[in-house]
Amino acid sequence: MNADLLARAGRPVPRYTSYPTAPHFGPEVDAATYAGWLGAIPAEVPASLYLHVPFCAELCLYCGCHTTVARGMTPLVAYAARLIEEIELVTAHLPGRLEVGHLHWGGGTPTMLGNPDFLRIMALLRARFALRPDAEVAIEIDPRVMDQAKVDTLAAAGINRASLGVQDFDPRVQEAIGRRQSFAETAAVADALRKAGIDAINLDLIYGLPHQSVASVTRTLGDALALEPSRIAVFGYAHVPWMKKHQALIPEAALPGPAARLEQAETIANLLNEAGYVSIGLDHFARPDDAMARRAEAGTLKRNFQGYTTDDAPVLLGFGPSAIGALPQGYVQNLPATPRWHQTIAQGELPIARGRALTADDRLRRAVIERLMCDLAVDLDAVCAAHGAEAGMFADELAALDPLIADGLAVRDGACVRVPEPARAFTRTVCAVFDAYLAPQPDAGAPPRRHAAAV
Ligand code: SF4
Repeated sequence: MNADLLARAGRPVPRYTSYPTAPHFGPEVDAATYAGWLGAIPAEVPASLYLHVPFCAELCLYCGCHTTVARGMTPLVAYAARLIEEIELVTAHLPGRLEVGHLHWGGGTPTMLGNPDFLRIMALLRARFALRPDAEVAIEIDPRVMDQAKVDTLAAAGINRASLGVQDFDPRVQEAIGRRQSFAETAAVADALRKAGIDAINLDLIYGLPHQSVASVTRTLGDALALEPSRIAVFGYAHVPWMKKHQALIPEAALPGPAARLEQAETIANLLNEAGYVSIGLDHFARPDDAMARRAEAGTLKRNFQGYTTDDAPVLLGFGPSAIGALPQGYVQNLPATPRWHQTIAQGELPIARGRALTADDRLRRAVIERLMCDLAVDLDAVCAAHGAEAGMFADELAALDPLIADGLAVRDGACVRVPEPARAFTRTVCAVFDAYLAPQPDAGAPPRRHAAAV
């Protein structure tokens, strides 16, 4: 891909984990709105749960998550107590004990919570929700913050899927990103989890980090495959120091440029495909027998705030600062600052900062973007028919696709739009054509303000 095309195709675009995307949430959705939405959920509707723990042992320089460094256990003990209050507060507004098929602990580092507190919260969730026997109960793990007691706690709590943060095993890269984590300690945690019965292991890798090269990501991938994960997520490092101040400590001169990033992403994808993993959407890979691969094959994969998912529950309840919920009526986001989140719950109020009620047009475009993100293809007429919209309403968008088609980033057959395999990494750029909220791009050379580069 030549430099011109890469600059055009790789322009900053959202990650589309929701539509409208989070920057378009506003204060018009508040605690009262959320209370009304919760009360209107039919009792028979299944739900999913997301619990955010915004604490880490130390801050990785590349981190884009909502987290802070916890010094000692005091903030974590207080946090667990407040999380319990939040769960009680939210469930008091629900029409009944909703069935749950997916529960996800994210962060931050959720295993920073004390073991008794973790078990107490899981017991409460099982009391307030009907966790299905086959529910996926997942957690994000920093292998540097694990020991046997934590492994035993997770197993006792019913965790059955673990995502291990790896990013890169190269010591030079690890030094530059402030995350020192040996292959041996990662392998020991994967082994201990499997011995405890948690055998669905995911790995998270990142390309585009300082000092990474095709050779270094190839070595990292070899080590990662030795751990035999069922899923691997491969994210491009988003360098946004104007939003994440600590990223200013990343040595910018050592960051690979757009062409090198693309080469790294393609190398990883090719090696994973050769190793038998199926490409899923933009950045996930799974063994063919994994539920995510089967969903992708069937065209029923979903996308939510955790990325690609097999979860199709119409209700996602988020707990913890910054957590986002998705309800049939729209999106809600909790207060991002932990002190205000504490204070609001202590006053007996739902800790909502903002949100977005969905219009019919939002739902239609969300469906188009989700199919493109998950299947790399969409039949616009079929989506319009499913939403009671007029076929042909995307005439302007189809016209706007023409330059992307000319560049080889999209293919069109009537109302069917597809992202060809060589352009998989640019799927978000094609989705952006259907985004009614995307602001005009800044002048060439101006720094992007909200989103990271497409690749
Ligand atoms: S462990 Fe994860 S959440 Fe915590 S600072 Fe590092 S990357 Fe961010």
